[in-house]
Amino acid sequence: MESNGRPSTAQIILLATSSAVTAVLYSVYQKKAATVNSLKEAKKISIDQDLRSILSKAPGKCVPYAVIEGVVRSVKETLNSQFVDNTKGVIERLTLREKKMVWNRTTHLWNDRETIIHQRTNTVPFDLCSHDDSVTVSVRVVRPLEASELNLETTYETFHPTMQSLSNMISHFISGERPKGIRETEEMLRLGECVTGVGELVLENNLVKLQPPKQGLRYFLSRQDYASLLGKQESGARFWRLLAGLCGLAACVTLYYILWRQWTLRRKRRQERSALEEFKEEQRRRMRELEMDESAVPAGACSVCLSAQRTCVFLECGHVCTCEPCYLALPLPKKCPICRALIDRVVPLYNS
Ligand SMILES: [Zn+2]
Ligand SMILES: [Zn+2]
Repeated sequence: MESNGRPSTAQIILLATSSAVTAVLYSVYQKKAATVNSLKEAKKISIDQDLRSILSKAPGKCVPYAVIEGVVRSVKETLNSQFVDNTKGVIERLTLREKKMVWNRTTHLWNDRETIIHQRTNTVPFDLCSHDDSVTVSVRVVRPLEASELNLETTYETFHPTMQSLSNMISHFISGERPKGIRETEEMLRLGECVTGVGELVLENNLVKLQPPKQGLRYFLSRQDYASLLGKQESGARFWRLLAGLCGLAACVTLYYILWRQWTLRRKRRQERSALEEFKEEQRRRMRELEMDESAVPAGACSVCLSAQRTCVFLECGHVCTCEPCYLALPLPKKCPICRALIDRVVPLYNS
């Protein structure tokens, strides 16, 4: 706080930043909460013989946002795992991640870091089918890679460590990056896996399709069931609400502090002004008592006895207004006659 009572630049920056961050966090929370609400409101449809008739009766042969659970089955071809025998699936993702240690100049520690250096995802068309084999209806999953929460199963994982020679170890210490090796993983969505899909369900050419929904709704494919998927989204929304709340609290505390400082400063100034007024009134009363004229008071005269020279500096306020006998005669606790501040120390003033 500057002495003129205006908030300092740092305080204004803090207030503006915390307000802006709160607004951003809150908008993220609102988006998450909207996702949770639309997930709750999504129509739960089971894969059974009635599915086609439900869709053909629906407007546009479409349910804009539906939840279905089913078993993964390939349409024609399947993908085989490149590492594990007898493992077949419909989505296969190969990832190469480089693991290295990076020197942090601030904390002076080596931190592990992993970066994806290569990723390839293969897919083949697949359906979600009923657990009951007698049900012939199935749902074709369209553009599955656009779905969120598609946590594939890791079918293979290996680590290829980097060979270290003395010369490149030294160069790593100089550069601040030490490679550890390459981690290779294969993840798959396997046949027979239970999947929950949330998206737009349409009937097109007698084929039921699950596809990315419109109107900004989120497309989900998950190996979790509907309740777990919803629970995960809810806890995510709660987390963002908590973050927004904490940041909002910081903004409120900053604002409160700025207002409180301004209010106390104003109150102090008012008190100083009224003390000065009282002091002047007291001085006029003394002059009337002594039957003196204002012009008759010598310059630098003690403001209490109006005759002796001022010889005391009051600290911390710094006022020079009385002679020593008048200072000694002040009632306890001793206060400056001009501003009413408590007198901490007195320094004698020598006029040469
Ligand atoms: Zn005096
Ligand atoms: Zn004073």
